[in-house]
Amino acid sequence: VKETGRNGFCLYSSDMRQDSSQFLDIESGLPRAICHDELRLHYQPQVDMAQGRIVGLEALVRWAHPQRGLLPPAEFVPIAEETKLIRELGDWVLRRACRDAAVLRERGFGDLKIAVNVSPQQFETDDFDQCVLAILACHGLDPAVLEIEITENSIMRDMNKSMANLTALAHAGVTIAVDDFGTGYSSLGYLHSLPLHTLKLDRCFVQNITQASERNTIITAVLAMAQGLEIAFVAEGVETQAQHDYLLNAGCPIGQGYHYCRPLELEKLLPFLAAHPT
Ligand code: C2E
Ligand code: CA
Ligand code: CA
Ligand code: CA
Repeated sequence: VKETGRNGFCLYSSDMRQDSSQFLDIESGLPRAICHDELRLHYQPQVDMAQGRIVGLEALVRWAHPQRGLLPPAEFVPIAEETKLIRELGDWVLRRACRDAAVLRERGFGDLKIAVNVSPQQFETDDFDQCVLAILACHGLDPAVLEIEITENSIMRDMNKSMANLTALAHAGVTIAVDDFGTGYSSLGYLHSLPLHTLKLDRCFVQNITQASERNTIITAVLAMAQGLEIAFVAEGVETQAQHDYLLNAGCPIGQGYHYCRPLELEKLLPFLAAHPT
């Protein structure tokens, strides 16, 4: 069993580290990727299901590798998390997301929340809160424009450090989302002890939603819980009209997934936003 960053504990498997030369290639190439501007952020809209309005965007990192083409985060984020590179990568992601948030504001989309995935090695760093607030201030952004996404498992790694930094950020107006909700091993105790704003239901719950199953009972229950706690709720991985209809009918407020839009680079996102209600 091996500890990974955002995804907690997984069985050590060969597909995590297909072969060690590829691992070394990624590890040695990443610092160059960061300073030579090979990383990209794509943005996936989050949609108010009842109104069909776009209310937020999730930033998802990619690596435009000079030889291998556009690499998905699964190919390099876990490797960055095993080495110290995740801090630099995470810092780049936050800076780029805030720079893009300033562009979006200029184009009249300043109300859209931008959600950024953050690894535990990042938010357990003592000055994480100050770094985030400094980047926001650098672009004159309202902290409320930023949402930090952290997984359930990563919260539980070091509750005390998570608490201090997340509380400071929440106090400043940054919102905190629990990513991949429902897949962790954690108790629900953290839900009222941390300043959480949003639960993101993992897409495994959405996948078979149109066939009646116990999972649907879970969805109904977590929706009621989020409502009772006054926490926002996003269903991830909505791919079909049937899944959308089911979730809307169950009272789910916000959806994200290929059914609405794939993650888009900023130049393609801007016309998409202009053509859809926000
Ligand atoms: P995640 O945070 O759960 O992000 C959602 C993933 O689901 C994204 O994959 C997205 O492209 C994909 N997705 C969206 N809609 C659908 C759908 O309808 N169906 C299916 N099957 N998939 C959908 P992506 O971009 O490959 O990212 C994978 C993971 O990499 C993310 O999972 C997140 O854990 C991590 N990641 C991405 N960007 C960053 C980053 O900047 N920093 C860190 N630390 N991790 C990141
Ligand atoms: Ca996420
Ligand atoms: Ca701190
Ligand atoms: Ca997720």
